[in-house]
Amino acid sequence: MENSKELKARSQRLANRLKELYPDSYCALTYQSPLQLLIATILSAQCTDVRVNMVTPALFKRFPTSFSLAEAKTNELESLIRSTGFYKNKAKNIIACCKALVKDHQGEVPKTMEELVVLAGVGRKTANVVLGHAYGIPGLPVDTHVGRLSFRLGLSKSKDKVKIELDVHRVIKEEEWTIFGLRIIDHGRKVCASRKPKCSDCALIDLCPQKGVTKTPTKGKKKS
Ligand code: SF4
Repeated sequence: MENSKELKARSQRLANRLKELYPDSYCALTYQSPLQLLIATILSAQCTDVRVNMVTPALFKRFPTSFSLAEAKTNELESLIRSTGFYKNKAKNIIACCKALVKDHQGEVPKTMEELVVLAGVGRKTANVVLGHAYGIPGLPVDTHVGRLSFRLGLSKSKDKVKIELDVHRVIKEEEWTIFGLRIIDHGRKVCASRKPKCSDCALIDLCPQKGVTKTPTKGKKKS
């Protein structure tokens, strides 16, 4: 059984290997300010980044500030974001979130986890995206890919997103949390898919205990 020192050493090797594999990982949402990233991330729930990037130019042209978004008419905002799905809930959250930014933060997006997670529509994942990418404050957004790969790679035994985040914090250097998350997402999309991970083609296989991965049975062998 791996002790904590060995886990830390293996995790750092994993981080280094991922860096070699995905040197150019980046946040695929288009934004020009912390506010734009916050709103784009809220819209990205259950939606692709590509779709969000198609919607946000017109949205930010019509509502360029938190002040204008706070005063937006719900039906107009809904029609602008409709194609991102769950648009009624997202519109409600965006307006409430921006009202709070205006009331409590002079219209600016705050820079702490505590202040971000009390905003409507903002959980730790969204807060970590904003902190990491808009402000350069290390954070690990735990999405479905990060959750799945953290488990398979033996970095966390938990299914709870907050626990996963804290488990990864313990074994990856703080300054690498944000980029590590992006690289894990790239690897999850390209190799370590939810249903059929391509373990035999995976460049991490010597560092991965493949926790919970069901091995495909060998075909052609009949029971006697
Ligand atoms: S070896 Fe398999 S389980 Fe481990 S990261 Fe690669 S694809 Fe995922």
